[in-house]
Amino acid sequence: MPEARSSSGATVELSTEALAGLRAAVRGPVHLPGEPGYDEARTVWNAMIDRRPALVLRCLGVADVIAGIEFARRHDVALSVKGGGHNIAGLAVCDGGLLLDMSLMRGVWVDPGARRARAQAGCLLGDVDRETQLHGLAAVLGFVSATGVAGLTVGGGFGYLTPRFGWTCDNVHAMEVVTAEGRLVRTSADENPDLFWALRGGGGNFGVVTGFEYDLHPVGPEIIGGAIAWRAGDTQRVLELFRELVERGPRELTCAVVLRPAPPAPWIEKDVHGQRLAVLAVCHSGTIADGERAVAPIKALGKPVGDILQRRSYASQQSLLDATQPKGRRYYWKSEYLARVDDDFFAALMPHLETIPSPHSAIVLFPIGGALNALPADHSPAGNRDARVVLNITASWERPADDARNVNWARAAWRDLRRFSTGGTYVNFLTEEETGDRIHAAYGSNYARLAEAKSRWDPTNLFQANKNIAPQTR
Ligand SMILES: Cc1cc2nc3c(=O)[nH]c(=O)nc-3n(C[C@H](O)[C@H](O)[C@H](O)COP(=O)(O)OP(=O)(O)OC[C@H]3O[C@@H](n4cnc5c(N)ncnc54)[C@H](O)[C@@H]3O)c2cc1C
Repeated sequence: MPEARSSSGATVELSTEALAGLRAAVRGPVHLPGEPGYDEARTVWNAMIDRRPALVLRCLGVADVIAGIEFARRHDVALSVKGGGHNIAGLAVCDGGLLLDMSLMRGVWVDPGARRARAQAGCLLGDVDRETQLHGLAAVLGFVSATGVAGLTVGGGFGYLTPRFGWTCDNVHAMEVVTAEGRLVRTSADENPDLFWALRGGGGNFGVVTGFEYDLHPVGPEIIGGAIAWRAGDTQRVLELFRELVERGPRELTCAVVLRPAPPAPWIEKDVHGQRLAVLAVCHSGTIADGERAVAPIKALGKPVGDILQRRSYASQQSLLDATQPKGRRYYWKSEYLARVDDDFFAALMPHLETIPSPHSAIVLFPIGGALNALPADHSPAGNRDARVVLNITASWERPADDARNVNWARAAWRDLRRFSTGGTYVNFLTEEETGDRIHAAYGSNYARLAEAKSRWDPTNLFQANKNIAPQTR
């Protein structure tokens, strides 16, 4: 007889009848600890997270999601929801709860005429790109194709197309949602608009999204993109070029800076493997001719030690960084939004590159300025409309024995660099211990309205395996 945990932490005995009732009510498999499928479902991208749910329901459809929510309510069992399992804080899994695993729901339907795609909530980013690219269309998604669309979208979402089109959630037309009452509702600007507003950045606080409708944009199927790398000695020049592009470059051109020890990648000269590098991950999402012109100054900078910036498929661009972020390593991030990147910031950054303790860690700057800055602060809770760059200090290593050294490096760099922050931070990059004030910082002036939506749509805080904004957690 499995023992579970309620959302208030109390122990709950689950009877054989209760489990049999759940199994009879759903189409998808239900796994208990020790059963095949259980460990696969509870394992997430970040190996620092090792939580054991009391049971896992692998949903095969919306009716399974409703049955899972009803089960959690009836038996007072804590609930978590897993999309792609990529959240750094491991929000997809809670100890002793019911894990609603959406990863078998990966259907994508594209309406090329309407430039819209419907995606089930278990989709990974690559699933959506794969189908939309058949029509030369793209949704605004993130940089690593194995990330889940669900967590990314409900937390805001940014990627190569963000400077042109805004947050991922600015490009959502509608969502299908199962509420805390187990009701299936549609949300859009016209239907349940307060729930629609809250779900565009407010995370998993309000319901379980079962389907997303994305607005699509003509991009690809071929673009100019790729990566280009220089030795550490060129870091200052690369950062200055990045600043120039952030401030004056065309919105079609997105360059993320990655400062890290060189991985043993075949495209990087062998003699620099293991040494520090400055890398630009570049994507020009316009025409090939415009792209070639736009990347010319990048290719002309100094003497690159690796250059795969070329004509390529947009789909390959979207998975370019995948190998650098494998599932199963240990990860710890610290992140802030920046309104600008000035010389003082560059000078402050440099010493932290010298002390990177792991060959996999990096300091990354993502440009996001452009379309999102033009919308009002309260357009959606993703907000942060003054942000132009995301700073992410990404520690990544293999052995538990090295946890403290790597976490301490990220924390020290963050403590020093956070003085350059807008004061805001990205909710999807918050680590396990970042709650309270940090969640507040992620939402700023939108926090109070989010809290109101929470009390309307989830008054008992059923959905609490997230960056929770229920009043009692503040
Ligand atoms: C390698 C890597 C690269 C990344 N790159 C980017 C990037 O380029 N841009 C960017 O914006 N972010 C990026 N992220 C952050 C990413 O957006 C978040 O980690 C996000 O939570 C991942 O979504 P997921 O579905 O995989 O998460 P999961 O871990 O499965 O879920 C996280 C949380 O999302 C919520 N959630 C999940 N499914 C649902 C649902 N169906 N309904 C309601 N809530 C739900 C729940 O609160 C859940 O606990 C990256 C993360 C990683 C690990």
